[in-house]
Amino acid sequence: MPSLQGPRIVAGPPGPRVTKLLRDSGLEPSSYSSPIVEEAKGIYVKDPDENVFTDLISGRCVVNTGYNHPRVVEAVKRQAERSIHWQTEQAYTLIGRLEKMLGSGLKQVYWSQAGSLANEHAIKAVRRATGKPLILSFTGSYHGSSMGAISLSGYDPSMKRHYGPLLPGIVHVPYASCYRCPLRLEHPSCALACLAYIEEVAFKSYVPADEVAAVFVEPIQGDAGWHIPPPGWHQGLKRLCERFGILHVADEVQTGFGRTGRWLGMDHWGVKPDVVLLGKAMGSGVPISACVLGRDLLQSTDPEPIPIHAQSFSATPLGTAAAHATMDVIGDERLCENSERMGAYMKNRLIDLMDEHSSIGDVRGLGLLIGVEIVKDRAKKTPDPKAADAICAEAFRRGVYTLNMGSYGGRAIRVAPPLIITKKQIDASIEILGEAMGKIEKN
Ligand code: PMP
Repeated sequence: MPSLQGPRIVAGPPGPRVTKLLRDSGLEPSSYSSPIVEEAKGIYVKDPDENVFTDLISGRCVVNTGYNHPRVVEAVKRQAERSIHWQTEQAYTLIGRLEKMLGSGLKQVYWSQAGSLANEHAIKAVRRATGKPLILSFTGSYHGSSMGAISLSGYDPSMKRHYGPLLPGIVHVPYASCYRCPLRLEHPSCALACLAYIEEVAFKSYVPADEVAAVFVEPIQGDAGWHIPPPGWHQGLKRLCERFGILHVADEVQTGFGRTGRWLGMDHWGVKPDVVLLGKAMGSGVPISACVLGRDLLQSTDPEPIPIHAQSFSATPLGTAAAHATMDVIGDERLCENSERMGAYMKNRLIDLMDEHSSIGDVRGLGLLIGVEIVKDRAKKTPDPKAADAICAEAFRRGVYTLNMGSYGGRAIRVAPPLIITKKQIDASIEILGEAMGKIEKN
């Protein structure tokens, strides 16, 4: 396929074909806000009306290597011709590569096809390995949409409303989301009070520490609005886990595979978790996820060496082939370095936009995981979800696709393009985002 160039809007959006498709599906054409894919390549998605959008969210942080990277496509094609079902050699060799990436000993891997499922398995594994019932999780966290994963999550009440009762034994404590601190404090004068809360408040008033199996933590809270804990927070949490005999589970589903400028988000803090959850970008769009545990963890604590966690689709041949190719591309094309370099450039360009656009309250990010907080009043940090939606809709009309998310009532626009993005492509995207903000601010 020749490479796509964009962004380019020729009709609508939506144009006539998408309008008809939506109408035939009982949907309003005005609901068109996320491109329908006719074909996709690199950072671009072409819809059925020949509109070409820049995808600033990498299909929800999935296509870190860009859409349809030729090496990923080739690996998947080659594997499809040989077998599309049942375990292959590549599942075994992939464990070795994950061990190297994680760099902390031999691993046992439970494969699935979604980040939610990796979290589900981790809930079972930590309870079984420790024999303890309780799990700590964080306000603002997003761990997926299955029952266990929504029980872990603290992202938005709408994730849970009317679905209860949820999984018992999960306790939420405040995350270091400093821009919207759950304790209404300021960093650094807070002296990491949210971390101290676990030991000084939770463990001394409502959580028996000796019954806590694990803490589940995102290196950076993505869907909550791209909150990056301050220096020392993750290391402090790990030390607390070690002191109390609590397993440390890092949900790297969104932050893994180069997204933040390192192979893993936790690499920024030098923390080695006991359990790591991977998904999204792992297969560049071919579904594959993994719950990766120290090999000794379950075997040393359980009379049955391999706990039952059966799935018809485990490490699928296409998923593992795509994961190998994805890791090859990230390594060979130095995409972690590009993520770091282009992320810094893009963040600075977005910070520059703050001079002209009062709707930007804050820009924060690591590598190419950047959030642009949209507010009514910068000093007061008053959330403006309506403006955030309107800016995304206006950018979409001009050929840039992004979305906004956030916890605590806030909304941040997600800026997380494929890691192959160039300066020129960043400049073109920033121009359109700026135009969209200008238009909405005038209204
Ligand atoms: N964990 C994290 C940190 C995520 O960001 C997400 C998805 N946004 C998930 C888990 C769930 O992954 P999936 O949608 O593949 O089930």
